[in-house]
Amino acid sequence: MNYDIWFNGSFVPYEDAQIHVLSHVVHYGSSVFEGIRCYETEKGSAIFRLPEHMERLENSAKIHRMQIPYDLDALNEAVIDTVERSGLPECYIRPVVFRGMGPMGVNPLENEVDTVVAVWEWGKYLGDEALEQGVDVEVASWNRMAPNTLPAMAKAGGNYLNASLVKMDAVKNGMTEGIMLSTNGYLAEGSGENLFIVKDGKLYTAPVGLSILPGITRDAIIQLARERGYSVEEKTIPREALYVADELFFTGTAAEITPIRSVDHYTVGSGTRGPITKELQDAFFDIVEGGNDPHDWLTFVDVP
Ligand code: PMP
Repeated sequence: MNYDIWFNGSFVPYEDAQIHVLSHVVHYGSSVFEGIRCYETEKGSAIFRLPEHMERLENSAKIHRMQIPYDLDALNEAVIDTVERSGLPECYIRPVVFRGMGPMGVNPLENEVDTVVAVWEWGKYLGDEALEQGVDVEVASWNRMAPNTLPAMAKAGGNYLNASLVKMDAVKNGMTEGIMLSTNGYLAEGSGENLFIVKDGKLYTAPVGLSILPGITRDAIIQLARERGYSVEEKTIPREALYVADELFFTGTAAEITPIRSVDHYTVGSGTRGPITKELQDAFFDIVEGGNDPHDWLTFVDVP
């Protein structure tokens, strides 16, 4: 099923949400976007951390000198309206802002900026069994881009050429995902997920300075882990820490909390989901499925 799309302030049918082939974004990858989930919780449908996602969208646009013609309130409302109009109790939400028509050439400053919000049904990103069984991954041969090449804090379309290379290689190699190293050789993140290591009861994850996307699920897991008494350190971690980890997991809007059961054919821990991964998954799903919301992370919506 295809749902109406919010396009520059009004709803258009799915088939009519089109752009010209000479739009700047088609040639130069000049978009910024978000990925958000709306969950059917036991207390009604709710969007997970909507304001944080829309703030990140605004930051991404600002970094790329893109003026979004709508303020935060209007963008939040556009998302809520799009979800409610779809009637979907649970969906994936994709706001995207891109450089449209204008002069041809690299300089985008005179091109129009278009804003879109679309929704669709999306199941488990890394496979139905991934959340319990874990996934098999490899260290990617492509690095995450260096901090002085592309701003990694921006969730920008062009960055995903890097991510796509990693993901395609992984799939061709029979793996579910690739883990990128930073250009100085430290662990960064997956093509669309942040990475956590559990060792001796403590959690470790890469710092934002290593060209990772500051994930909103990453932030949630750091908070949930600390609340449960775990130490969480954001630090530079060498590759081989993967091979001796007790547990590894990815976090992301699409991937949620996905255990990793092998890396480069090394078995991680016991080769199944570890106990701390499970505890944090349970804490996360208590919010997004149970609808229990002590952190005020849920925006409830009205779907029939
Ligand atoms: N890193 C990258 C490269 C991503 O694309 C994503 C997905 N947005 C993440 C990390 C996870 O971020 P979040 O938890 O905000 O979805």
